[in-house]
Amino acid sequence: MEQAQRSERPLLNRRLAEFGTTIFAEMSALAVRTGSINLGQGFPDTDGPAEIVEAAVRALREGRGNQYPPGPGVPELRTAIAEHQQRRYGLSYDPDTEVLVTAGATEAIAASLLALLEPGDEVVALEPYYDSYAACIAMAGATRVPVTLRPGEGSFRLDLDELRAAVTDRTRLILLNTPHNPTGTVLTREELSAVAELACERGLLVVTDEVYEHLVFDEAEHIPLATFPGMRERTVTIGSAGKTYSFTGWKVGWVTASPELTSAVRSAKQYLTYVSAGPFQYAVAEALRLPDSYYDGFRADMRARRELLAGGLEEAGFKVFRPAGTYFITTDIRPLGETDGFAFCRALPERCGVVAIPNAVFYDHREQGAPFVRFAFCKRTGVLEEAASRLKTLGA
Ligand SMILES: *Cc1c(COP(=O)(O)O)cnc(C)c1O
Repeated sequence: MEQAQRSERPLLNRRLAEFGTTIFAEMSALAVRTGSINLGQGFPDTDGPAEIVEAAVRALREGRGNQYPPGPGVPELRTAIAEHQQRRYGLSYDPDTEVLVTAGATEAIAASLLALLEPGDEVVALEPYYDSYAACIAMAGATRVPVTLRPGEGSFRLDLDELRAAVTDRTRLILLNTPHNPTGTVLTREELSAVAELACERGLLVVTDEVYEHLVFDEAEHIPLATFPGMRERTVTIGSAGKTYSFTGWKVGWVTASPELTSAVRSAKQYLTYVSAGPFQYAVAEALRLPDSYYDGFRADMRARRELLAGGLEEAGFKVFRPAGTYFITTDIRPLGETDGFAFCRALPERCGVVAIPNAVFYDHREQGAPFVRFAFCKRTGVLEEAASRLKTLGA
């Protein structure tokens, strides 16, 4: 009897039941099966700087980080992170008490939410959202309250009235992401300032995912939320080496925050991975000290790729939201006579040998995301050219 009841109960718990499998697995499998170009998942197809690879090899050979590194991260990396925040943004953080190294931004997000939320708390998050946010909010037993970014002329924008209206007495924190994946929106000084005022007025914490801080184009500027008045003490800022240095497999991320917040996040982090990526931490410390020319070159290079793919998508008939940041392009498929991004993405590999991701997967209000499809442009020029020429056959 008891046995039978047990086996009827689903294996995956209720908190995670809605997150069974990711669209990325399905689409990547489809890419392999059909021999398609995979512009679905956002990882570069070339590695970062050779000297940083050498730094990792040296650390491995010299036995630095081959055994458990210190829980908060190796001092060399924590110091380099603090220097980076100071040099770039004029933010000063104590490497010993205000910096925490994590297993990528993914663990920083998980540890922050698990540490700071009680069951029943509400989290206001921008929609569409990075997929791990919803799952981590659920694992913390909290409730997500999405605020939808609205498509305007050339970009998706945050409606500040909707943001204010989303905050209730149960709201514990705002989960922000700028530059924003998947829309490519970079929040402006005015928008960030309004978020900051709201957080201060309502006594909210903010967890801000800034992993694309170095990937901003043209006139767009990345301004860390922690630089706004009253925000340093209530903001957990998350960064990562994966996107900035093109080493997504190394999984080195970090948190900068007040001593109290850092200590809280560390409490959760120590029971998730405890520590990670020992030798890579030393290499990332060197990467953070790369000269400005590296960042300028990286941005210029990615901007050229953005132009290549955006041009191809426009020629193929998509409406393109040219991203101000990140390495994703969100498109509207309605000019192609399509309305359902899921159906479109499932058919695209057969139709022209390209894989993309339906933005609807990043929405609670799926209908809001239905006509939008995301393409990654962090791929070699030749790959993007081939993808563009394949996409052009769509209209035919
Ligand atoms: C890629 C990505 C992450 C994950 O970063 P890792 O350092 O690889 O864990 C987090 N947030 C956003 C918005 C991302 O696009």
